[in-house]
Amino acid sequence: MHLNINDSEHLESPSQSEVRQCVENLGADQFLVLGHGEGYFVQTYHNPDGSYELEYRQGAANQHYKLSSDRITTADVVNAFGLFLAHSGALATTWDWQPLILGPEVRVVDEAEVPDALVEYHGVLMSADWPQEIEDAQELTGYVMHGQAYNRVRHSAADAIGEQGELCPECGVLKGQYHVPGCQQEDCPRCAGKLVECSCEIDVV
Ligand SMILES: [Zn+2]
Ligand SMILES: [Zn+2]
Repeated sequence: MHLNINDSEHLESPSQSEVRQCVENLGADQFLVLGHGEGYFVQTYHNPDGSYELEYRQGAANQHYKLSSDRITTADVVNAFGLFLAHSGALATTWDWQPLILGPEVRVVDEAEVPDALVEYHGVLMSADWPQEIEDAQELTGYVMHGQAYNRVRHSAADAIGEQGELCPECGVLKGQYHVPGCQQEDCPRCAGKLVECSCEIDVV
């Protein structure tokens, strides 16, 4: 177990009382991360207004949770860090954690409640800024590849999710829309392979 104190101090194998002290002495605009191994951590950020951000992650990106309460107390943070240090399952059940989605990953809406940082679009949850990426992607209709112009390949329903079974599982566009550039599902118009994998190159125009 490793405690990172605002990137300025580091403690290996901290005790419960050391962790408690570090939380209680955490200055404004400073953070603490307690973790072990890749992707296993609890972290807090002490906002300049005295409130806290609190998150924990148990491995994969879809097991990254955030507490949405704006009334997280120092005692909550002490408690969460203590439970994480003790590998206690009570960490997951003591608070009403919300899943945190960091990237363009999308998931089907299955709850009435939509966390703040997410929006519902095309019937799935995605990061709040992603719908704009989808809109922008529709403006890019073609590529020049190896000196020749090609129309981009639109999303087909072959590998789709969602209630209507027509969304791209990676970038969330509808059937018939262009993928968000960089989407691994986009087909190459030149060789019909996957654009991110094939050896064709897009000319910079
Ligand atoms: Zn896509
Ligand atoms: Zn290709």
